[in-house]
Amino acid sequence: MAYDLIVIGSGPGGYVAAIRASQLGFKTAIIEKESLGGICLNWGCIPTKALIKSANVMDYFSHAKDYGINAGDFAPDFPAVVKRSRGVADKMSKGIQFLMKKNKIDVLMGFATVKGGGKISVKSADGNMQDVEAKNIIIATGGRARELPSMPIDGKKIIGYREAMVLPERPKTMIVVGSGAIGVEFAYVYANMGTQVTIVEYAPRIVPVEDEDISKELEKSYKKRGITIMTNANVERVDTSGNGVKAFVKTATGEVTLEADVLLSAVGVVANIEGIGLEEVGVKTEKGKIVVDPYGKTSVDGLYAIGDCTPGQALAHVASKEAVVCVEAIAHAAGTYHHKPEPVDYGNVPGCTYCTPEIASVGMTEKAAREAGYELKVGKFPFSASGKASAAGATEGFVKVIFDAKYGEWLGTHMIGANVTEIISETVLGRKLETTWQEVLDAIHPHPTMSEGVKDAVEVALGEAIHL
Ligand SMILES: Cc1cc2nc3c(=O)[nH]c(=O)nc-3n(C[C@H](O)[C@H](O)[C@H](O)COP(=O)(O)OP(=O)(O)OC[C@H]3O[C@@H](n4cnc5c(N)ncnc54)[C@H](O)[C@@H]3O)c2cc1C
Repeated sequence: MAYDLIVIGSGPGGYVAAIRASQLGFKTAIIEKESLGGICLNWGCIPTKALIKSANVMDYFSHAKDYGINAGDFAPDFPAVVKRSRGVADKMSKGIQFLMKKNKIDVLMGFATVKGGGKISVKSADGNMQDVEAKNIIIATGGRARELPSMPIDGKKIIGYREAMVLPERPKTMIVVGSGAIGVEFAYVYANMGTQVTIVEYAPRIVPVEDEDISKELEKSYKKRGITIMTNANVERVDTSGNGVKAFVKTATGEVTLEADVLLSAVGVVANIEGIGLEEVGVKTEKGKIVVDPYGKTSVDGLYAIGDCTPGQALAHVASKEAVVCVEAIAHAAGTYHHKPEPVDYGNVPGCTYCTPEIASVGMTEKAAREAGYELKVGKFPFSASGKASAAGATEGFVKVIFDAKYGEWLGTHMIGANVTEIISETVLGRKLETTWQEVLDAIHPHPTMSEGVKDAVEVALGEAIHL
């Protein structure tokens, strides 16, 4: 079977690429070995947000009295929480099935291996082999949980993110190793379900890629929630021979032994680039990722790669953007599409973490901006001074904006608080349009909203704060 374009992998990189290709007139197929929608819909973004929503409901019930509501007795039904999350994921995956049909994209279920010369062999679950061929092939095979030799995932006592989403019962105690987005999101979910959670982080602070002020605020908030946090701490070895799990942790002051029912290893993701024919056809890889040009082209003609299997932030919206850029560039080169797409701007990618309080950021941290030699205007507006936040009982956190003092360029925004993942898009669009501080102030922000905090923070940066 010959196609104009075949995509391997159906995550937010792969399925978006297939749809855009079909829209641009390519005869398109997509190959998937597991479930349509990839990690994002089945084991990542979506099911975690469903679990987080259940944790939010627990949060509300715990504070019902603060809102004048007598909630009576309540408790999580943990298997029902998991069931709801799986239901949401299944529904989303079925949605992708519908979109493939709507866009006349052939779906081939099986494991794909590239063979060179535009050929791919597909092995289905029952062992059947099929060869397909395309002028253009996009590899979007995504990633999987990173495993450290000191903590091999056994799926029972040492678990990765997949197992953490479907535990048969709520553990009483849990050690979360790693405090990136995945680690702190699960810590929030389980702490709210009543699990005693300890976070162990190798770096000096939690959510280490965020601005330092964000890390401090989250640590303060998590400690209030009863989550134990250990930073500058390294799990050197784990013992699973007893009832639970023992983690031997090296800290600045000596070795500590932690005991828990389960240990969640949340130490990052690695790309799925092995065993899919890349070495055989000569695709260049570096540091465990496929090397690509700004349009997703690999070192081999006709072969492209996008998403988590390539460098760049391992985020769903990055994979989707890379997909569109890659397909449009292929169509443009073929002379069938008028517009040459702009390469992805990796400096303007929003990052969101959906714990409570939520975290959202884009652009440079204050430290990175200072190290880059900028003279800065920095403004920080606490939600404790926001009317909407007070009305909502969500006064934790702040908006921090960072501008270049010389030309007014918006270098970054870092937020922590309720709903900030919905507010960050203003900065992304503002930065895309090269908005200055004056233009942010000139744009009228609705009242009362937490998004006003952005304008308030800009006022603080300029020394013109009205609400502080
Ligand atoms: C717990 C968790 C929470 C996350 N939360 C967020 C979030 O809130 N926001 C966000 O932006 N990102 C989040 N991410 C990251 C996000 O899921 C990924 O960045 C995104 O899924 C990457 O998309 P992708 O298309 O590159 O690959 P994937 O979504 O990983 O999809 C790759 C697909 O390829 C298939 N595949 C692999 N090899 C083959 C083969 N040889 N043949 C056929 N099929 C193959 C796989 O089965 C898979 O379905 C989260 C990740 C995790 C693990």
